[in-house]
Amino acid sequence: MRAIYPGAFDPITHGHIDIIMRAMDIFDEIHVVVANNTVKNGLFSWGERVELIKKSLPASDKLVVTNHQGLIVDYAQRNDINVVLRGLRAVTDFEYELQIAHYNKALNKKVETFFLMANVEYSFLNSATVKEIAKFGGDVSKFVPKPVEEALTIKFKCDKEIF
Ligand code: ADP
Repeated sequence: MRAIYPGAFDPITHGHIDIIMRAMDIFDEIHVVVANNTVKNGLFSWGERVELIKKSLPASDKLVVTNHQGLIVDYAQRNDINVVLRGLRAVTDFEYELQIAHYNKALNKKVETFFLMANVEYSFLNSATVKEIAKFGGDVSKFVPKPVEEALTIKFKCDKEIF
């Protein structure tokens, strides 16, 4: 069975990686898909996010990392995938995730959403806060893998040089 794990991944954190690694014991193949959502303007470009995900995950023929512009259900249908994988950190995630799951079901009734609870260690972790910490020179090594830590340093160093 194959699953799609869509998200903004701006950037990928240890929380996302934990979900992917645990899901690799359950699914035969996981497509980690950077969803090109025009509403959310990110820090990293779509291409940078894909590169950072690839650098942060072990090489495995069970993993496909790509980006997609459009509906997740369309990507799923085109690739013959029936499971959307999502992570739940807290009750606050639940309401949003429930809505999205129902929309996806309405758009394609074959699609089931599969939730994994965030590891307790990472249940407070989100990309937005990591970016804030990095912006002000804080240590993010506990929250993100090395390639992301380095990319954040470069991103914010360039910003400082510009302003
Ligand atoms: P966010 O919603 O924080 O911007 P993404 O869109 O990148 O994050 O998230 C993709 C999926 O990963 C979502 O289902 C989200 O709930 C989940 N996720 C994000 N951070 C974590 C974490 N620390 N632990 C587990 N799941 C997470």
